[in-house]
Amino acid sequence: MDTKAFKRTLQHSENYNRKGFGHQAEVTTQLQSEYQSSLIQEIRDRNYSLQRGNVTIRLAEAFGFCWGVERAVAMAYETRQHFPTEQIWITNEIIHNPSVNQRMQEMEVKFIPIETGKKDFSVVETNDVVILPAFGASVQEMQILHDKGCKIVDTTCPWVSKVWNTVEKHKKIDYTSIIHGKYKHEETVATSSFAGKYLIVLNLKEAQYVADYILNGGNREEFLQKFAKACSAGFDPDRDLERVGIANQTTMLKGETEQIGKLFERTMMQKYNPTELNQHFQSFNTICDATQERQDAMLELVQHNLDLMVVIGGFNSSNTTQLQQIAIEKSIPSYHIDCVERIKPGNAIEHRQLNGELAIAKNWLPADKIVVGITSGASTPDKVVEDVIEKIFTLKA
Ligand code: SF4
Repeated sequence: MDTKAFKRTLQHSENYNRKGFGHQAEVTTQLQSEYQSSLIQEIRDRNYSLQRGNVTIRLAEAFGFCWGVERAVAMAYETRQHFPTEQIWITNEIIHNPSVNQRMQEMEVKFIPIETGKKDFSVVETNDVVILPAFGASVQEMQILHDKGCKIVDTTCPWVSKVWNTVEKHKKIDYTSIIHGKYKHEETVATSSFAGKYLIVLNLKEAQYVADYILNGGNREEFLQKFAKACSAGFDPDRDLERVGIANQTTMLKGETEQIGKLFERTMMQKYNPTELNQHFQSFNTICDATQERQDAMLELVQHNLDLMVVIGGFNSSNTTQLQQIAIEKSIPSYHIDCVERIKPGNAIEHRQLNGELAIAKNWLPADKIVVGITSGASTPDKVVEDVIEKIFTLKA
């Protein structure tokens, strides 16, 4: 499919909207009352620190709702206002936050059902309205919806669209896109749907494996097995790694994306003549500012003397997991939770570990004076962070 031409057609269609409907003022008031917090504002005003009794809370200086998420949620609220009686669907969670998604359901915005691992678009009818979430949707999904003639409200974050444009550029000049991301993540699924040839690497270790293959060759079968779910159809490592461009899932660790870019730049310089680098390697900066700011603020926060950290965000939120990883690497006891209800009676907390499994930690709040570091992912409302902080104050009172 000519994805660029399709996108152009879609964007010119009268059924397509990516700018909202002019109800910003009403929606802003509603969002403020539902998601913002006066306690968080107070902590911000006190230089990101607040002491009550024997607890000091230290907030990261950048955390929570990013611009792209705020925009997507506002557009979803506007869509409900603009289409009060129509059936509204979302192709996926609007953002990775349980309380926001719960609110969508209360507003009778339904998720496209998943049947045996696949989304069932047969439920969508011609006059329905379908919202595409902040991390986008695959071009195939967009085409199904466009063909059905339903109204599409596209809240895809412009930063994500920037990555899609990057892989389109790679495709145009016949480069393979090396995407730093998680092959199952919706954003990466969407990005790869716009790419031509692509290979998805999860981390520096996988990137190094690919770089070694470029330089020294290797076991082709092992390569194909290793990336079976993470490459384009018919991908051939002996043919398709001569010209590569870098792209990323916007919420990966920015330092790692940069290292992966540099690794492939060095690899291509080593394999080919440095003067020919531009014929074998392309890199554009597609790291999202919000992800970068939150990770930088976390790196600053973990320099303080913290007794523990609480990282708040959806369990399938990639950027929240990256924040948690920073705390773990600093050997700070850190608990990733998605809502205050994870804090259980009897000084216990249910939290998500880096391997994705849930665990219960007992006696997680030490007696005596403590300093607790707090941050939250880009899809977490301040209200949820407030609930967690208030709970900690209450438990320690
Ligand atoms: S984290 Fe970045 S790319 Fe993702 S929605 Fe927010 S601003 Fe957009």
